[in-house]
Amino acid sequence: MPDARKGLIVVYTGPGKGKTTAALGAAFRAVGQGMRVLMVQFIKGSWHYGELDAAKAMGDDKFQILPMGRGFVKIGLEKPDAEDVRLVQQAWEFAREKIASGEHDLVILDEINYAISYKMLDAGVVAEELSRKPEMVHVILTGRNAHPSITEIADLVTEMREVKHPYQKGILAQRGIDY
Ligand code: ATP
Ligand code: MG
Repeated sequence: MPDARKGLIVVYTGPGKGKTTAALGAAFRAVGQGMRVLMVQFIKGSWHYGELDAAKAMGDDKFQILPMGRGFVKIGLEKPDAEDVRLVQQAWEFAREKIASGEHDLVILDEINYAISYKMLDAGVVAEELSRKPEMVHVILTGRNAHPSITEIADLVTEMREVKHPYQKGILAQRGIDY
C-alpha cells in the first residue's frame, strides 16, 4: 500500500441519505489504521445514535464524538435562533483549535454545511481556516448544500443523490441504519 500521506479535505453533501454514514465509515477505517478521530456534531440529532456508543466502545483516544449543537434547529425562520448560532460558533471555535493542534489524524465536521447554509457560520471563515490546516490532518465536512467556497478548497466532493428513500413509502427511521 502506498503511504505518501496528504491530509485531504473531503465533502459529503447532496440530498440523498448517507453523508454522516460515509463519514462514520471513514472513521471506522481510520481507527483500524491506528489513527485518532474526532467528530464534532454541529447539529445534535433528536435521538440516541448508535455511533455514540460504538465510539465509546473504541475509546476516546481512538474515536471521540462530541455533540455540540442543540437537539434541533428551527428552520424556515428569517433569522436563525441566537442560541443556535452561539452553539454553532462555539463548536466551530473548538473544532478549529482541534484541527490546528494536529492531535487528531481525522476531524469530522458533521452537518457543518447545514450550519453554513443557514448562515450560522461564515463559509469564508471556514474555508480560510481549512486552507491552512496542518498538512497531515484529514477533514471531512458533511451536510446538504455545501457552500461553493467549501467545495472549491476541497480535494474530494461527493454528492449523494436520492434514488429511493423508504420515507417515501412512509417507512420511518430504522435502528442501525438511520440512528
Ligand atoms: P445518515 O446520517 O443516515 O447518513 P445523512 O447524513 O445523509 O444521513 P442528514 O441530512 O444528516 O442525512 O439527515 C439526517 C436524517 O434524515 C437521517 O436519519 C436520514 O435517514 C434522514 N434522511 C437523509 N436523507 C433523507 C432523504 N433523502 N429522505 C428522507 N430522509 C432522509
Ligand atoms: Mg447527516
